[in-house]
Amino acid sequence: MSGKDFRSGFVSIVGRPNVGKSTLLNRILNEKVAIVSSKPQTTRNRIVGIKHLKDAQIIFLDTPGIHKPKFAMNKRMVKIAMETLEDGDLILFMVEATSPPGIGDRFILEEMKRAEKPVFLLINKVDLVKKEMILPLIDEYSRLMDFKEIVPVSALKGDNAEHLVETMVKYLPVGESFYPDDMVTDQTLRFMAAEIIREKIFKKTREEIPYSVAVLIEEFLEKNEKGLTRIKAVIIVEKDSQKGIIIGKSGEMLKAIGTEARQDLEDLIESKVFLELWVKVKKDWRQDENILS
Ligand code: GDP
Ligand code: MG
Repeated sequence: MSGKDFRSGFVSIVGRPNVGKSTLLNRILNEKVAIVSSKPQTTRNRIVGIKHLKDAQIIFLDTPGIHKPKFAMNKRMVKIAMETLEDGDLILFMVEATSPPGIGDRFILEEMKRAEKPVFLLINKVDLVKKEMILPLIDEYSRLMDFKEIVPVSALKGDNAEHLVETMVKYLPVGESFYPDDMVTDQTLRFMAAEIIREKIFKKTREEIPYSVAVLIEEFLEKNEKGLTRIKAVIIVEKDSQKGIIIGKSGEMLKAIGTEARQDLEDLIESKVFLELWVKVKKDWRQDENILS
């Protein structure tokens, strides 16, 4: 799957909630996204899908929370969002044909300008408006930023989706594919969830807990029809005394860790989260191959 004309690169997809990002990805990927194991070079970002073409590989990155105003984001979220934009070769900025630019869009526009990457404007849901509505909208957005391409689409109906894919490929660097042909996504969100829980443990317990604590995500059930994501995590420590500290007096500490972690996770995944935390003592877990992997 390579050759001198093969192209391969990363595309970040951004836009306010509900503009149709997931619908477009599903349309482009044409398949249910499967979970496969995480690759080290992707730990910073969440790969939401990989499109394999005869002459190209397009890797789509998600940018959770980027539409939020700065004051509503914590440092980690701002960092992840910015890094995702900077890691991409191309940014797809999706808006709806049904409404004019809003405050949320303006935050994203500022971030995109800072990233200095080529940006496509995707005007989605064109099936819901009259053709005459689209031109003035294009005009309005063009005044906010210099877009490389402006593509009206209907993610739901599929209008223009193929054309969009072909146009994206032109903006990707020439190079070999990054991932095997059968891989469509990775598991980075689990990794990020574990990191957030670890961060809260250190923040809440201060110096009392050494870095020998591990967090295992035992269960990660993506958003169900009620919009709830279920996460079950096990905090592994080496000593009973550490377990006591993390649980705290009548469970207060663990509760506080769980509440803060859940709030961050909800912002990150943009979903309600049910977080279940357990603490286990496992002496010498660092020698345990299973946990390390
Ligand atoms: P996301 O939050 O940006 O990922 O948005 P979703 O992909 O979850 O879509 C939000 C809603 O908009 C869903 O109800 C979709 O069915 C709907 N939607 C997405 N694209 C289109 C489109 O092109 N036309 C219409 N009419 N609805 C769409
Ligand atoms: Mg979505």
